[in-house]
Amino acid sequence: MKLAKENIKFIIVHQSATKKAETSFEKIKKFHLYQGMGNIAYHYFIEQSGRLRKGRNESTQGTHTKASGMNAKSLGICLAGEFNTETPESSQLYALKSLLNNLSIKYKVPRKNIIGHREVYGSATECPGDNLSEWLTEWRKH
Ligand SMILES: [Zn+2]
Repeated sequence: MKLAKENIKFIIVHQSATKKAETSFEKIKKFHLYQGMGNIAYHYFIEQSGRLRKGRNESTQGTHTKASGMNAKSLGICLAGEFNTETPESSQLYALKSLLNNLSIKYKVPRKNIIGHREVYGSATECPGDNLSEWLTEWRKH
């Protein structure tokens, strides 16, 4: 489904919920294809090395956040890792920061609307994990 530029009001940050060292863009994409999503669920994916991988086109809805109808009004970014137990690599956070800055300017998304999956009303998930959630909360203050 199409995602019009003017409908992008949020950016949602996710974790893969798998050990970062064992996680690649290809693995997650394969898993989502197997689940019938037609593509990887996210618009961007950041691997353990900090390598940024392109998922869906920004003009196409993701399948990352069902709660509050978020797929129709957001872009989804996922970091490889399980951030209740792991901490994000500084290379991953560097890539994330730069991506968030670029996307928020491009789509005029205010910082308060750049949130973790668990912050979406109606979602019942740990995603993106305690350590990445904490980082996001701090980042939003600046
Ligand atoms: Zn999520």
